[in-house]
Amino acid sequence: MTRIELYDATLRDGMGGGGMSLTAEEKVRLVHRLDDLGVDIVEAGFPSSNPKEAELFARLEHEPLHHATIAAFGMTRRRGVAADEDAGLRVLAACFAPICTIVGKTSTTHVEKVVRVSREENVAMIAESVAFLVAQGKRVVFDAEHVFDGLREDRDYAIECLRAAATAGAERLALCDTNGPSLPSDIAHAVADVASALPGVALGIHCHDDGGCAVANTLMAVQAGATQVQGTMNGIGERTGNANLITIIANLQLKMGHRVVSDEQLRLLTATAHFTDELLNRRPDAHQPYVGKHAFAHKAGLHAAGIRADATTFEHVDPALVGNRRDLLISELAGRGTVTDKAERAGLELDDATTARVLERIKALEHDGYQFEAADGSFELLLRKESGDYQPLFRLESWRVIVEQRADGKVETEATIKIWVDGERYVSVAEGNGPVNALDAALRAAITEAHPHLSDIVLTNFKVRILDETKGSDATIRVLIDATDGEQTWGSIGVSTNLIGASWMALVDSLEFAEQPSRVRGAAAS
Ligand SMILES: [Zn+2]
Repeated sequence: MTRIELYDATLRDGMGGGGMSLTAEEKVRLVHRLDDLGVDIVEAGFPSSNPKEAELFARLEHEPLHHATIAAFGMTRRRGVAADEDAGLRVLAACFAPICTIVGKTSTTHVEKVVRVSREENVAMIAESVAFLVAQGKRVVFDAEHVFDGLREDRDYAIECLRAAATAGAERLALCDTNGPSLPSDIAHAVADVASALPGVALGIHCHDDGGCAVANTLMAVQAGATQVQGTMNGIGERTGNANLITIIANLQLKMGHRVVSDEQLRLLTATAHFTDELLNRRPDAHQPYVGKHAFAHKAGLHAAGIRADATTFEHVDPALVGNRRDLLISELAGRGTVTDKAERAGLELDDATTARVLERIKALEHDGYQFEAADGSFELLLRKESGDYQPLFRLESWRVIVEQRADGKVETEATIKIWVDGERYVSVAEGNGPVNALDAALRAAITEAHPHLSDIVLTNFKVRILDETKGSDATIRVLIDATDGEQTWGSIGVSTNLIGASWMALVDSLEFAEQPSRVRGAAAS
């Protein structure tokens, strides 16, 4: 079986997505993670003279990589200009990157209506650009833009363009579904057609997810003969994104029998996916295939019992293979198995009587409006309270929040907190941009003397839901807070008819969880 080459386009195509931006330093960090993961080619972008790109390429030239090769990205020469006089191609030729990926047209619509050159000139642009870079000692990947549209419009012309690139010395032709319209069966037929028209020519595949089929299309292309897969980390990219290389790697290796990375590298998949999101300041998608927090989550009690008996009954692969872990969700449906499993993970041993009490307690709390699925931190605290293995962070004397609106329209919020920690009384006052923010600030000011690393905990998300809307301002309010220490993320919950009261409960849980022995132990081990 031919080895499938992994080609990552996160730094170039991936940056086309809304709100995506990375500094040169951050890009270099990502390149190292891709290198560790076993990606073969990392496309870094166009080595133009703008300061950010110049810095990136200057850094990359001296960065020691174990495995990955850097590719610079550009276009075929402009019309009517000799390749060796084309400014863009000269920049590529001068760049240190051993691989140059150049994009060119293969669809007659684009040739005639967009670029407005003759069909012959377009073929010459492809052939001469590839030949020029090859003569400069570069390995060339030819990205055939809109090629699937091109094959539908005028198959023979599209093939002629591809042949021109191959004959001129391109080591690989990447077939691009640039607008992402194709379905898996279209891709399978088209790739097989190109493979039979150009025997012996190495093909790649570059898909976009506009029809929601980018990963499926990529896998079909591999089945039809493509030996390079292009994609981005977590599928980021313009519009609906590029093909998700994370999912592709897992499917190639675990479902299709291709050995694209080592077992050890495959276990880096989840961490690499989350690292990319952290770098981009995006919340990781909990439902992302293979690597999401809930990718191996089990809710129903019976279901969870089945998982404990034999994981293959409800899991498509072993989560550990991709560096993920099983997540047992807590809900009214959950049975003993889920609770026991969560307890084990927190390092607690529950006897039967305690487990029964926990189940009763969950039932009662869920009736009051609690939902522990997104509040794993609060759930562990509940287990600890019921099993007697619970250390409160402090004893509350009182808190108070004052919100004052002035005549000039300014709203000022001030919180006062009185607590006891280890027999000492702490009183602190803080201002905030709202009641929860002020309470958070006051609580931390009071508590960080006794618990200094609580200042590293960041609250990343604050969600409020009104549970019985018909009751108006008497309604029950559920507050969910997500917190992180930069490595682990946990959720906490509070429920009350008072918004600030519910927020306070969730806030206290999020900080108390941070100081629980299971986490402190975990932190010491990692
Ligand atoms: Zn693209």
